[in-house]
Amino acid sequence: SARFLATKKQPSIGRFTGKPDPSTGKYTVSFIEGDGVGPEISKAVKDIFAAAKAPIQWESCDVSPLFINGLTTIPQPAQDSINKNLIALKGPLATPIGKGHRSLNLTLRKTFGLFANVRPAKSVQGYKTAYDNVDLVLIRENTEGEYSGIEHVVSPGVVQSIKLITQDASERVIRYAFEYARAVERPKVVVVHKSTIQRLADGLFVSVAEQLSKEYPDIEMQTELIDNTVLHTVRDPKKYSDVVVVCPNLYGDILSDMNSGLSAGSLGLTPSANIGHKVSIFEAVHGSAPDIAGQNKANPTALLLSSVMMLNHMGLTEIADKIEQAVFSTIAAGPESRTGDLGGSASTSSFAEAVISRL
Ligand code: NAD
Repeated sequence: SARFLATKKQPSIGRFTGKPDPSTGKYTVSFIEGDGVGPEISKAVKDIFAAAKAPIQWESCDVSPLFINGLTTIPQPAQDSINKNLIALKGPLATPIGKGHRSLNLTLRKTFGLFANVRPAKSVQGYKTAYDNVDLVLIRENTEGEYSGIEHVVSPGVVQSIKLITQDASERVIRYAFEYARAVERPKVVVVHKSTIQRLADGLFVSVAEQLSKEYPDIEMQTELIDNTVLHTVRDPKKYSDVVVVCPNLYGDILSDMNSGLSAGSLGLTPSANIGHKVSIFEAVHGSAPDIAGQNKANPTALLLSSVMMLNHMGLTEIADKIEQAVFSTIAAGPESRTGDLGGSASTSSFAEAVISRL
């Protein structure tokens, strides 16, 4: 069965509406290969998709940013490609530090209205980590909070970074979480917050959740302070295995990395989906890994599993299952077929070949 987006059913919001090309029967997907290890892991995905005969044709997208009036902007051809195809797969993009420009990742989320970031984290059968049988789903608000980019120097030595929370953005992500829970048949949504301190901001997030929960009598809703979530998850991640967690942006960023560490043990295994009302972009959670770039060492699994989430999202569930099972049986086969981040000796390309041999 499909493991990520672990269902054949799609939430009723953010559904893929693209159609295959009538002449080839294939869907066109925009592909942003990304920086650092991006091209290497992208090649692994392309090779595996070709071998699996996935009905996908790739449209390469250059998103090297333009800076217009100090704003990071996605080049028009890339915007046109993604708006036309309604779906993209994305490798990691490096964010220049301290250049005063907004990150390209954030710009993509804003440009395409990708309001919900879905981050599953699940144990891999046959690969031992601190915890077994963990199966977590976290949905992170993806457009505002501490990532709104509203910062100023008040006076020398005093700065302000503003956390922006709006009713609209809170509502669309929390509604998505309820719809997602329904689709994947998880009985409960846990809304994580710190409204004891962020009374207005997180208070609004929680009150939106309380309002919305009335529309979902079939789904239980629980609110939880983030400190408790961290404590409970680290003690026993299985406690969250049948819920959907939803939270404001920064909490989600941090909690989801913790979830990856607890379940998979490596960021090299963790996929994600950025869902918008029209467009969705699928990407690995990890960054461009500059320390191992160009060395044929990177683990392509996170991007591969992101592509599996993408196939499920497109309704191509059979091919998604096939690739997913080949990836997991390769990892389970032992250290020789795993990449270095999992304590193995395989290269990116030999891992891809091993996956292809199991399709
Ligand atoms: P990183 O995720 O790139 O690397 C952290 C560590 O994990 C490194 O040791 C790296 O070698 C390892 N790692 C990451 N992916 C791996 C893989 N697939 N296989 C094996 N090992 C892997 O994080 P960072 O070093 O903090 O960031 C590097 C750059 O990536 C920065 O410019 C950052 O802004 C950017 N970044 C981009 C995204 C994104 O595009 N979504 C996410 C995070 C960071």
